[in-house]
Amino acid sequence: MLDTAIAEPESAEGRLRVTEFLTSVPAIGTTKMQRAMVELEIASSKRLGGLGKYQRQRLREFLSSREAVNRGRRSGQLIVLAGPTAVGKGTVSSYIRENYPNVLLSVSATTRPPRPGEIDGVSYYFVDDAEFDRLIADGELLEWATVHNAYRYGTPQAPIQAALDAGTSVLLEIDIQGARSVRASMPEAKLIFLLPPSWDELVRRLIGRGTEDSAEQQRRLETAKVELDAVGEFDHSVVNGSVPEAAREVVELMESRRSAPARQA
Ligand code: 5GP
Repeated sequence: MLDTAIAEPESAEGRLRVTEFLTSVPAIGTTKMQRAMVELEIASSKRLGGLGKYQRQRLREFLSSREAVNRGRRSGQLIVLAGPTAVGKGTVSSYIRENYPNVLLSVSATTRPPRPGEIDGVSYYFVDDAEFDRLIADGELLEWATVHNAYRYGTPQAPIQAALDAGTSVLLEIDIQGARSVRASMPEAKLIFLLPPSWDELVRRLIGRGTEDSAEQQRRLETAKVELDAVGEFDHSVVNGSVPEAAREVVELMESRRSAPARQA
């Protein structure tokens, strides 16, 4: 592809933008591509056929070093666990944290105040609005979203990239908007949807938790209805009938390298 592009700058290959070429390489998503463009000192408007001699050389070296690394070891997988509100994502991920110490769980930043028993730096990084604005402005978040029209939540990028580069898989427990953002920026991520055993059970769990007032419960139920429809966008679904069982299924999916079944439209 690169050879044709260089020999024939006006060909389809030659006219392909370097950014598009890089994201077509397996396991290079938008984030890795952007980092590579800076490293390679190539402007994002450049097409393959228009690269200078040294840019071509750096691009070739970059691609062959990636191949060597990929032959030597597999990079970690990014796994996203999402699902409707109150389905028990937090409980399943806490169970995984306590019972599967080898699984690395990402710690999100949030502007929500801590609930009793939550520990800063373990449950979340509890930050104020100004600090959250700074995290966004400095590009430190892989994704972020305002959840239930209330507080902001975001996934710190650096620890995830470091873990993936070291070959460690990482689990993110985030909302559905966040899962969609991750899919867009890292298409290689594996998306798991946690389902309730039934709608009635979901309602029971939401009311039973008792941490939100009734207006907030109503708002979250409305959100949950819409969220359940997103299951078709995910690679796998796991029913949260029993927490240990659901946790085991999620960990097994993390460990499996099976490619995801075809996603439904
Ligand atoms: P809670 O306030 O109950 O801990 O979490 C509310 C929602 O925020 C849950 O659906 C949880 O999955 C989601 N959430 C937690 N961390 C993140 C994050 O980093 N990004 C996004 N998009 N959602 C998150």
